[in-house]
Amino acid sequence: MKRKIIAGNWKMNNNNAQTKELIKQIAPLVKDAKCEVVVCVPFTDLDAARRAVRGTNIKLGAQNVHWAPKGAFTGEISAEMLLEQKVQYVIVGHSERRQYFGETDESVNARAKAAIAAGLKVIICVGETLEEREAGKTTEVVVRQTNAALKGFEKIDLKKVVIAYEPVWAIGTGRTATSQDANDTIAIIRKAVRKLYGKTAANAMRIQYGGSMNAKNAAELLAMPEIDGGLIGGASLKAEDFAVIVNSAK
Ligand code: PEP
Repeated sequence: MKRKIIAGNWKMNNNNAQTKELIKQIAPLVKDAKCEVVVCVPFTDLDAARRAVRGTNIKLGAQNVHWAPKGAFTGEISAEMLLEQKVQYVIVGHSERRQYFGETDESVNARAKAAIAAGLKVIICVGETLEEREAGKTTEVVVRQTNAALKGFEKIDLKKVVIAYEPVWAIGTGRTATSQDANDTIAIIRKAVRKLYGKTAANAMRIQYGGSMNAKNAAELLAMPEIDGGLIGGASLKAEDFAVIVNSAK
């Protein structure tokens, strides 16, 4: 049985004290979760978060990772550095990285590969912009991004991969994909994985939905057969809302 995964993407929010407080509030609310629970915090909060999640069922995640083990890459963080902070998951290729920081399909692939080789699990984000959607290019975009992100991966690596389908127009906008739309596009992504790695690997892969998932719409989205969890931005910053989402994932 696949276990669903709910991951909070805190983005550039919360200082150390707020991190400690938010995790303290979330922990008792999600202690009986049936799914995997992850919080992906800013790099500077990793130490505080690592201490706060100790003894809970919350796993620690980061929001990016570099492909090189070390070197002259100002502002970047390596997989080894994340592992030192007991990070288990790292988000790669979030649309905000692609949009604002020049992340490409190739760099997403390089980051994901390095993270997995070092022993991290990755949450690889794919998703179309509004313009692409309106031009009827959703399938083309998510298939291209999926194929590119997984380029050079061995089948065994896929056990460490979660894909997050995040339509860019739904992120932080309050506009959510309908549960049917999200389900259908995730099915398309799974088909792309099946073409590359076969049915068993594709069925075993967890593919989340992300984009304005909240306490009100989570249960419907998470009940869809193709949706194996959620990547949650805004609603992950409120303990009660995040917990409702987590506890909707059966
Ligand atoms: C995200 O940042 O991955 C995300 C889904 O954000 P939000 O839930 O705020 O739309």
